[in-house]
Amino acid sequence: MKTPKLVTTLAALREELVAVRRTGQKIGFVPTMGALHEGHLSLVRAAKTECEFVVVSIYVNPKQFGPDEDFSKYPRTLDADCELLAGCGADLVFAPADKEMYRPGHATSVDVGAIAQRWEGASRPGHFRGVATVVLKLLNMVRPDAAYFGLKDAQQMLVVHRMAHDLDLPTAIRPCPTVREPDGLAMSSRNRYLSPTGRKQALVLWRSLQKARQLVEQGESDAAAIVRQMRTVIETAETAKIDYVALVDPETLESVEKVVGPTVALLAVKIENTRLIDNCMLMPK
Ligand code: AMP
Repeated sequence: MKTPKLVTTLAALREELVAVRRTGQKIGFVPTMGALHEGHLSLVRAAKTECEFVVVSIYVNPKQFGPDEDFSKYPRTLDADCELLAGCGADLVFAPADKEMYRPGHATSVDVGAIAQRWEGASRPGHFRGVATVVLKLLNMVRPDAAYFGLKDAQQMLVVHRMAHDLDLPTAIRPCPTVREPDGLAMSSRNRYLSPTGRKQALVLWRSLQKARQLVEQGESDAAAIVRQMRTVIETAETAKIDYVALVDPETLESVEKVVGPTVALLAVKIENTRLIDNCMLMPK
């Protein structure tokens, strides 16, 4: 098992990567906020299948958290993260401090337009501006051939994809499937906030997505009817507070009225005050 090298400054990152580029190796990149789990590691493994050299960033980006969100309590577990990364082929970990990422006078940000305004964008104003800005900065710092993102954050994937396309970034953006716990709960660094009861209640997210799949398989195409039944499943959890449940077009993320082609079921629910998101693709026959 090879322990990845850890660098914390942009200068050190660039120095490492100049040497790698000289050898002609393909560079893969996985941006994360740390508190790593199998979902993150699956992205690293995917990167390793296509790229000889894999960089993972660990940075809890203050600009993508709202004032009442969990920035200060977000788990920071750098040592454990580096150990996990040693097992899956990461070559370099970039874990910058805030002052390295946003130097004095930093004033530029990236706005991605309509796709960043709805759902997560509406519930968390400024979130995607923060995400797009930090991802663009990281892509410019690492200059990877390909960057890997989880479909667990489906809207984030689309926002990054839109930005990369619109701004002619040379990096290929690779979507990777959601990794779930054996019982179906999507892995998330925030799952560790849940109490044992909350952890059980959190299963309603997955159950409601399965309900949507089942209804579509049975031929139901009325989006409002499907959403109603999904909400009913979620509401069986005592502490659940629904933010949104929606059936949307996979490209525009606009709500659909009828499920007649590939459609994404998208949801955000608070369980015991922990905000969880999940989604799945619906494929009518
Ligand atoms: P985060 O550390 O939450 O910012 O996530 C970093 C990357 O890991 C993002 O591209 C996420 O979409 C991805 N990711 C997080 N959870 C999962 C999961 N359960 N399955 C696949 N990818 C994930």
